[in-house]
Amino acid sequence: MDTTSEKSPAEQMLTPAQFLKGVGPQRAKLLERLGLKTSRDLLFNFPRSYLNMSELRTIDQLRENEPASICGEVDEIELKNTGPGRSMLGVLVRQQSQFLRAVWFNQPFMRDRFATGERVLLSGKAKLNAFRWEMVHPRVEVLADDEDPPSGKILPVYSLTEGIAQGAMRRLMSAVVATHANFVEEIFDDSVLSEKQLLLIADALQQIHEPTTEELLAEARRRFIYQELLMMQLALRLRREKLTAERKATALPVTPKIDARIRRLFPFELTGDQGNAIRDISEDLGRDVPMNRLLQGDVGSGKTVVAEYAMLAAVANQHQAALMAPTEILARQHIETLNQDLQQGRVRIALLTGSLSTAERREALQGIADGEVDLVVGTHAIVQEDVIFKQLGLVIIDEQHRFGVRQRAALRQSGLDPHYLVMTATPIPRTISMTLFGDLDVSTLRQMPPGRQPVHTYLGEESQRGKWWEFFRKKLREGRQGFVIAPLVNALAKQDVESVESTYENLSNGELEAFRLGVVHGRQSSSEKDSVMRDFKEGIIQVLIATSVVEVGINVPNATVMTIEGGQRFGLAQLHQLRGRISRGSHPSYVCVYASTESEEATERLQAFAASTDGFELADRDMQMRGPGDLFSFKQQGLPPLRIADLVRDEDIVNEARSDAIRLIKQAPGLLSAEYETLRERVLLRYGSAMELGDVG
Ligand code: ADP
Ligand code: MG
Repeated sequence: MDTTSEKSPAEQMLTPAQFLKGVGPQRAKLLERLGLKTSRDLLFNFPRSYLNMSELRTIDQLRENEPASICGEVDEIELKNTGPGRSMLGVLVRQQSQFLRAVWFNQPFMRDRFATGERVLLSGKAKLNAFRWEMVHPRVEVLADDEDPPSGKILPVYSLTEGIAQGAMRRLMSAVVATHANFVEEIFDDSVLSEKQLLLIADALQQIHEPTTEELLAEARRRFIYQELLMMQLALRLRREKLTAERKATALPVTPKIDARIRRLFPFELTGDQGNAIRDISEDLGRDVPMNRLLQGDVGSGKTVVAEYAMLAAVANQHQAALMAPTEILARQHIETLNQDLQQGRVRIALLTGSLSTAERREALQGIADGEVDLVVGTHAIVQEDVIFKQLGLVIIDEQHRFGVRQRAALRQSGLDPHYLVMTATPIPRTISMTLFGDLDVSTLRQMPPGRQPVHTYLGEESQRGKWWEFFRKKLREGRQGFVIAPLVNALAKQDVESVESTYENLSNGELEAFRLGVVHGRQSSSEKDSVMRDFKEGIIQVLIATSVVEVGINVPNATVMTIEGGQRFGLAQLHQLRGRISRGSHPSYVCVYASTESEEATERLQAFAASTDGFELADRDMQMRGPGDLFSFKQQGLPPLRIADLVRDEDIVNEARSDAIRLIKQAPGLLSAEYETLRERVLLRYGSAMELGDVG
């Protein structure tokens, strides 16, 4: 089919895959499974990795521990069970009269990739094992009967779906690059290209799919990584512009007199970090653009006092403040703290949650509307149409990262926005706060208030379980409370997996028989959860058996012991959050993690957990070990995933893109000048809806 005539470049980029050379209706369906619908999708479907064929060797050329590729014929396949849920797959590959064995541990499904007699390409690091060459978990490519070992120097390796082989994918990708790479619009003008020394888009596409040298491949990758990160940073700056610069708020200046009056209310000296955060916030509040700040600090670092300070600053300026918590229990917890600190003052506080009776709700709304109420503490119930504030100056959102444009619109009154402070107890690594949260200003509480009791962390040994439970019971008898955490609600098929249900079953008839146990997990309704949590807070329940739902927020200072089962299933940041549940009181606390794992990575993670109680250090470690994807999922933030950039690996480029984006938006607010039209279009196309850039004015 002729796809080249009479179409604009933009139309060319939207050519349905079906009409591309080497595709057709059937393949088009397969490609669609990979999310590839148009010529543009295909061009930006970058290889997952590369095979460097200059590393193609014969078996007698292999060297211990050097990367190499081997082409040969599958001679023998053997899959052995080596224990419960464990297996070893050995595939013997023959090259003339010599043999190499490829080995996979615990990946029995790999068995199906092979058939004897088939020709395969293996690449990985070769090792000698008892005089036989071996590759553990090599990359595999099965060659078609009529296919020669691929020629060319550096071969792209694409993600595949059943029905398309690597060779076929390569051929069709190569065809798309040939016919369409020249139609892709260049988003950078000449001055940027030369200043940044970036390859032209068409060349970069060519090189990323069919590299001629490793150097050019690296250049092509650098261009796309920079482009991707720049677009993301631009989107974040545009969002920021939308949320702040364009908007007006009432300035709420914190005078020295106000400052002194508020500080007097606190029963302790503020830590240095708290002082800095308060200074940042006071500066923001003093301006007539809305504050848009993230306050991050580990559990127990004292964020509440900072929030209280900000709220009282608003009240001192004759404005109302609202504090929004993720659950009813947490909202009530905040009210208690506020009531304690403000008992002699004249500040009036109202609770607004979904569980109020109609009469209570009416009364609260009345007080909020006529200004009788200064501080409103509640849940999402605060962001509802019938909630009308007399004069809302500040909104604080606890334990949440994002607050959408739509929700903000609901709180905007007579054209003015309130100031916003978002708080989180999940320490955020720097690269993440610059990217996913790049539209927020950030204040960090890293120091802990003085006098904090240590949390002792132990990696439990199965043979010592009895001793640990003995200790656990001793603490309960001393009047303390405890948690037992399991990764799943109920064990699925596998008996050996730790679940809340099986743990409850075991403990209530065993080690903790004599104590009052409660269960909480994500499959319960929120009122069920709330009621169990309340019983736990009040000491009616002594031990709470729970999934990670207890991660966020709940404050039970009397709880000082925790057992974590299935520790290998939790991420480092998550383990740390869990541990945070028992570090809140004046008693020392103890956590013991049990894990069944032989994975090096899980072991390393658990050791890191036991070795440090600094959440920021752990967050960095976690990100290095697992990549940012798992830690702060883009999906969870509603953002499209990164295609090629990696926030850990590419930290330098993140910094570069960020400062370039800031400069660009300063030069051309809204990116509205003609020279940036294409760039702006691409940014909006990719991030517009996710970041609500075109939304509610
Ligand atoms: P989080 O950051 O987890 O919300 P909180 O604000 O609940 O932490 O504070 C944890 C505990 O530390 C509270 O009991 C609080 O009263 C106390 N606290 C906060 N700041 C200080 C301080 N500067 N000195 C002593 N205790 C403090
Ligand atoms: Mg808190």
